[in-house]
Order: sequence, then C-alpha cells, then structure tokens
Amino acid sequence: MSDTLRVLWTLVPQRAPQPWLHCSHCGDPKPFESSHKFRLNANGKRLDAWLIYHCRACGQTWNRPLLERRPAASVDPQLLAALQQNDPHLARHLAFDIEDLRRRSARIEACGGAKVKKVALGLPTRPAARLEIGFALAVPVSLRLDRLLAAELGLSRKRLHCMQDEGKLVVSPAGARRLKKPPRDGWRLALDLSQEDDRDAIAAAAR
Ligand SMILES: [Zn+2]
Repeated sequence: MSDTLRVLWTLVPQRAPQPWLHCSHCGDPKPFESSHKFRLNANGKRLDAWLIYHCRACGQTWNRPLLERRPAASVDPQLLAALQQNDPHLARHLAFDIEDLRRRSARIEACGGAKVKKVALGLPTRPAARLEIGFALAVPVSLRLDRLLAAELGLSRKRLHCMQDEGKLVVSPAGARRLKKPPRDGWRLALDLSQEDDRDAIAAAAR
C-alpha cells in the first residue's frame, strides 16, 4: 500500500515577459509588451520581419527583429505564412522566448502569475502521509516557489520554510534557497505530511 500522493503540476504563464527599453516618446526606460502582431517587409529578394511591441506607458512601438535582410528563398514557407497571418501560436512562442529577449534588453520583467494544471499520477490508498509534486514548465515563470505553494496548497510561507528547516520539505535537485526561486522544469518537491493535522486538506489542494 502506498501512502504517497504523486501529482504533476504544469505551469502556464499568463503573460509574456516584458523587456524594458528606452522609450523615445516617454524619454525613459519603460516595459514593452508584445502586440502578438508581426510586421513583414520585402525589399527585393530580402525579407525583414519583426514582432511588434508597445510601450506600456504611451503605446510607442518597438519592432523586435526576427528576420533581418534574410534571402526570401531561404525562409521556410510555413514560417512565412505564419508571419503573414499573424499566427497566434507563433506570436506566443516568440513572445515567451526569454533568451532572445535577454540579448536585447538587460532588464526583463518576467511573467507574474501562472495557471497551474494539476494531474494526479499516483493516488494513495489511505490518507496521504507524503506528497510528491513534479513541475513541468514549457517557459520560465518568475513566481517564487514558496509563493506558488502557499497559494496552491493553502499554507503560509512561514510554515513552508519551517517544514523545510525540519527536513519535511525537500526540493530536488538540491540547491540553495530553492523556495525563494521560481520552480524550473523537472524540479520535484517532496512533503512529509505524516505529522500534519490538516494533511487531507493539503492533499486535496494538491490535486
Ligand atoms: Zn513610452
């Protein structure tokens, strides 16, 4: 008999990361948000393509380069069609490409909240004494793990840190200050609930 509840939490950020850039209209650095629209320019046999961003304060446009002076013949026809049609999936995928954004701005405002999709992988045959959570993330989130757990499990952050100090909460792979960092794809968390009076409520919230 297993007394372990195993769940997978898939985190889906609700907002794309926003680069801070100098806004020529505001005269200051401002966060820019993706419009999820593309701009395409054909010049002879060369193509330029951009993802259009707007200053959150004044609406000023920033064109984020995607293709620069690219020979038109070398562009994948599917990509070209997606750019021409403002394909929302491509726009979302690119807007969440935080690595590319980091090359263009030193300051990125990462997405805040995330929707959590919970799937139970293994159900305990009696009240759960142990909870194991696996994390799946297609794109990074900026939400700290302790805040996420507090919101989703209904526990205070203080209690979570106490449980960690007592060895009842273990994050793997191991590392410093795990609770204060955003969870990453593949992280796992084990929670010893055997001493917790409200373990049924915690287990119910986890799945
Ligand atoms: Zn502005």
